[in-house]
Amino acid sequence: MKKYIYGVDLGGTTIKIGFFPIDGELIEKFEIKTNTENGGINILGDIVKAINSHMLANKLSKDDVKGLGIGVPGPVSNGIVQSCVNLGWGSVEVKSDLERLINLPVSVSNDANVAGFGELWKGGGTGYNNLVFITLGTGVGGAVVCDNKIVDGHVGCGGEIGHAPSLDNEFKCNCGKIGCLETVASATGIVRIANKFLKTSSNKSILRGKENISSKDVFDAAKKNDDIALKTIDYFGKNLGFVCATLAVTTNPEAIVFGGGVSKAGDILIDVVKKHFNEYAFSVLRETTKFKLATLGNDAGIYGAAYLANQM
Ligand SMILES: [Zn+2]
Repeated sequence: MKKYIYGVDLGGTTIKIGFFPIDGELIEKFEIKTNTENGGINILGDIVKAINSHMLANKLSKDDVKGLGIGVPGPVSNGIVQSCVNLGWGSVEVKSDLERLINLPVSVSNDANVAGFGELWKGGGTGYNNLVFITLGTGVGGAVVCDNKIVDGHVGCGGEIGHAPSLDNEFKCNCGKIGCLETVASATGIVRIANKFLKTSSNKSILRGKENISSKDVFDAAKKNDDIALKTIDYFGKNLGFVCATLAVTTNPEAIVFGGGVSKAGDILIDVVKKHFNEYAFSVLRETTKFKLATLGNDAGIYGAAYLANQM
């Protein structure tokens, strides 16, 4: 009887592995270092070694395990990742290579897409089948889930919400374009906006003169009604609300879930995004689209990967 699944979150420095019962709660998690030497040639083999030794220690055979899911940091389509700069990978046939090495079924998707899938299964999006997930961290990532399936898209760029065009037309993105959502809605983007307003306004602010402002400083100052911080958060919310309105009319999600470090700001973030979403969104979507915070934190990836394996 197949009773267990493994969920793997493959990152540039560590590989997190979660051990789950089918449809159940996380039993155990462990991690190994990501060996990026020699173009990351040993990464898949290291994952297989770690899982095989976990199975041996727990007296499990391949008959006990349904399979494994894995999230990788690059665009994935049909089980193949085109390139993972963080891993030193070019095109790698992750699904077929892993299946051959471990002799179990494997399902693979992009890491941010997988994290969104985890939030839908056991996190902030539990109970929904249609979800947009947006991670607001150093950068901005995302996932689109429609009818309980991740939208990887034609060349694996489904859910690349960080590069959705925003209302801003000033800041340059790492991708080379101007005005990507990431430039104004990431932690670094929020600091960028705050610094701009500090420069162009003479209003008093607790942020003024502070060294190395963080996005948390900006939200904390906004909670104290600091004028520059409130303006910054409003600009952030306007751009994010605009993109959410576009996504809502494209995929009509039941909920839009925010994760990543910036989402720790909590209700103030939801409130400002909702305010501007209501300004831009198609009428019926204003009443029916829910906004939620992610709850799984760094475990979202292993949960989502396990859910991918669950669905095979
Ligand atoms: Zn971009």
